[in-house]
Amino acid sequence: MKIHEYQAKEILRRYGVATPRGVPSFSVDEAVTAAESLGGRVWVVKAQIHAGGRGKGGGVKLAKSVDEVKTLAGQILGMQLKTHQTGPEGQKVRRLLIEEGADIKKELYVGMVVDRGTQKVALMASSEGGMDIEEVAAHTPEKIHKVFVDPDKGLTDAEADDVARKIGVPDASVAQARGILQALYRAFWDTDASLAEINPLILTGDGRVVALDAKMNFDDNALFRHPDIVAMRDLDEEDPAEIEASKFDLSYISLDGNIGCLVNGAGLAMATMDTIKLYGGSPANFLDVGGGATAEKVTEAFKIMLRNPGLQAILVNIFGGIMKCDVIATGIVTAAREVKLGVPLVVRMKGTNEDLGKQILKESGLPIISANNMAEAAEKVVAAAKGAK
Ligand code: ADP
Ligand code: MG
Repeated sequence: MKIHEYQAKEILRRYGVATPRGVPSFSVDEAVTAAESLGGRVWVVKAQIHAGGRGKGGGVKLAKSVDEVKTLAGQILGMQLKTHQTGPEGQKVRRLLIEEGADIKKELYVGMVVDRGTQKVALMASSEGGMDIEEVAAHTPEKIHKVFVDPDKGLTDAEADDVARKIGVPDASVAQARGILQALYRAFWDTDASLAEINPLILTGDGRVVALDAKMNFDDNALFRHPDIVAMRDLDEEDPAEIEASKFDLSYISLDGNIGCLVNGAGLAMATMDTIKLYGGSPANFLDVGGGATAEKVTEAFKIMLRNPGLQAILVNIFGGIMKCDVIATGIVTAAREVKLGVPLVVRMKGTNEDLGKQILKESGLPIISANNMAEAAEKVVAAAKGAK
């Protein structure tokens, strides 16, 4: 799960990370009131969307008067902000953060992720923070310093100081940087984050270390432990099909192809998408209905897939292990009748009660194209999708 910058800053502040003062705003009027309450002479109007690269996309702007805050808030609110992380259609801006302007002397980068290889939290830090960190990672990876944190000890003073010095924090500010790095680690750990990033972490003209941006993602499997974080969820930022699927406990990810896939098991779902690709097709979604899919779940899954206007064929690929093929076949028949299927449906099923399942499909009278193995299924569904054009 992702949250907005202003929410991530709220969390980090609780751990003692210094940030500029700021007020989230949902309208131009609120933005003006926010700027007035903050006072000062320079403000930054920042689009809040669940994607980075906002600065480059025109979603972060400096204002030198309250009037300018008003004008910029009017321009940014409601805009379709396109960044390298939003995709070509962009993301609509519905929230702003009005923040006091900071005196930036140097922009640094610090971030944490879970490193699967070492099974530790990896701290990454660089002197080259700011809007071009992806370029730094791609072309000068030696400028990114890494520490793999021992979970028993946490991020030690020595490790934090060493990293701070390596990224160019002057001696007088090392203690502050240590405090921020250790706070970031504790916040990451306590919240079951999968990513926590401050880019840029700045050095100000008067030697302070301040988090100017903040990004946190959380492990969905641990959200049950964090109702306060779940409360920060912003459904406007999420794919409607994925939200609907999550209500039924279906793992669904929208993709940009035209062949819908309904599969049981994540591994089989991945292999199914690969096979479709191999035969020249393109999947419209990843969908794992899980091991205990009921007829009701299969129906919901069909409905979600069929909402996609680009859908041109569906492939159902089921391995009946614990799940029996006849149960799935009944689900498919019920679903196909209920949702008035308008695209070709290819079904491949193997395993427990396979013959019974095939018989149910055959006797349903529905125009189902059956296949005996994955290659045949993929070939047939790719051909069916082409025919539907
Ligand atoms: P993004 O990473 O999505 O582009 P940031 O929050 O990092 O958004 O903002 C982009 C740039 O805007 C920063 O690198 C920094 O130079 C500038 N900036 C952001 N917030 C402030 C602020 N409060 N005061 C001054 N400059 C800021
Ligand atoms: Mg940033």
